[in-house]
Amino acid sequence: MTDSLLDTLAARLGPAHVLTDATDIAPHLDETRRLYRGQAVAVVRPRDTAEVAAVVAACAAARVPVVAQGGNTGLVGGGVPFGGVVISLARLDRVRAVDPLDATITVEAGCVLAHVQQAAEAAGMLFPLSLASEGSCRIGGNLATNAGGTAVLAYGNARELTLGLEVVLADGQVWNGLRALRKDNSGYDLKNLFVGSEGTLGIITAAVLRLHPRPVSTATAFLGLASARAALDAFGTLRGRLGSRLTAFEYVPRFPLEVVLRHLPGAVRPLAGDHSSYALVEISSPDPDAEEELLSRLSELIEAGLVEDAVMARSAAQGAALWRLRESLSEMQGHEGGSIKHDVSVPVSRVAEFLERATAACEAALPGVRVCAFGHFGDGNIHFNLTQPVGAEKAAFLAEWPRVNRIVHDIVHAMDGSIAAEHGVGLIKRDELPRYKDPVALDLMRRLKGALDPLGILNPGKVLRPAEGGPEAFPAQIPAS
Ligand code: FAD
Ligand code: ZN
Repeated sequence: MTDSLLDTLAARLGPAHVLTDATDIAPHLDETRRLYRGQAVAVVRPRDTAEVAAVVAACAAARVPVVAQGGNTGLVGGGVPFGGVVISLARLDRVRAVDPLDATITVEAGCVLAHVQQAAEAAGMLFPLSLASEGSCRIGGNLATNAGGTAVLAYGNARELTLGLEVVLADGQVWNGLRALRKDNSGYDLKNLFVGSEGTLGIITAAVLRLHPRPVSTATAFLGLASARAALDAFGTLRGRLGSRLTAFEYVPRFPLEVVLRHLPGAVRPLAGDHSSYALVEISSPDPDAEEELLSRLSELIEAGLVEDAVMARSAAQGAALWRLRESLSEMQGHEGGSIKHDVSVPVSRVAEFLERATAACEAALPGVRVCAFGHFGDGNIHFNLTQPVGAEKAAFLAEWPRVNRIVHDIVHAMDGSIAAEHGVGLIKRDELPRYKDPVALDLMRRLKGALDPLGILNPGKVLRPAEGGPEAFPAQIPAS
């Protein structure tokens, strides 16, 4: 059966685009954090929507699972194949149209996010989705994971930037929903079924995305704060005064900042003094006044005693250096040994309380653990990471992963939060969902999956546990890094 499927695929795509050699397919079996290693009979590289549809139809006929892959930068094991065929969208990388008056860009799923940003910029517009992985993640993957990042505060996550989609369904049919409408109440909003579905309901092949005007000026500052509660007060004040001109409010406590200063080549301490917490703030303005505006707002915050100290970037290079500190946090954390990670959200008003409760609980459960929590404070989304105690054995620390997850996720749940804020569920959180997700919601998700993918061939075993079998949700091997 598999041989005849491979022959069919090779005849349709050309043999050069049906990879079966172990070396060729190896990069598609691993994921960023090396939590899982999968297997696949082939990796196929279609070049357009019709070829994707042909691949899915052939796999459906053969009852062989398919897993879509974009840039393979996902952090939850969602793109790891456990058998079947990997469909790489990398060759669907055309920008089909940019329309400044409609303020839209129509792109194929394999466009690298940075290229989408550049195409928008070339047309004098802004595509605001921004992630540290933007040089390699692809827009189809961004939509399939409903990616967040650092500009969600003002512009929303991938879902809010999506107007229309083109999707290959589980039987190989193509749904052409590539519409640029701001208003369309002609029935159920189908595109939102596919955004964030992690390749389990359909394969996104193209999208119409919303563009924004480019700000005329931006300004960036780094604040020193007395506590997470002070950060929350400063955030609330800035948000109240600036509205959507506040385009970022990223939180960095003392420990992660020290880690990045210790390990990032060329990193410069932004403030002379020592503070318990810090925030990276960015404002964007349609006028040339962003610096002036930020300066006034910072003076108010300092006068009100909400901010202990602040420095403002005086050039684009200084602004970029501040952002580099923030964006390197996750990677630099690795230099301090093993890390146990959580991508969680709570209502913004409760972020400080969450940080206090989760920190206290983890420190009590794992004496010496170093809490390395940071993130998108203004979205209520914290990467609540834990670094191993100094001198601890890495493997022993990482073996605590499930126990610590349980502690943190229980607190998140008790605070009306989400255990999967921006990275998705994939495999790593799949078996946690039934504990935290409303049972009616989970049942609806299962019914949708059954309706859209009755044969269960689209990325099986991800997000929802299959009826029987399927890959194990927690890493069979403790991660190497
Ligand atoms: P992949 O990893 O290839 O796939 C991810 C999931 O989407 C899989 O389940 C896959 O099957 C599915 N999929 C991929 N393409 C399609 C398609 N065309 N149709 C249907 N399903 C598809 N994420 C954030 O949200 N915010 C961040 O700030 C952020 N920062 C990151 C920083 C770094 C350094 C790294 C390594 C990752 C970061 N991520 C972040 C995670 C990751 O980059 C995002 O989840 C991204 O959206 C994944 O895109 P991708 O193309 O790499 O998708
Ligand atoms: Zn993030």
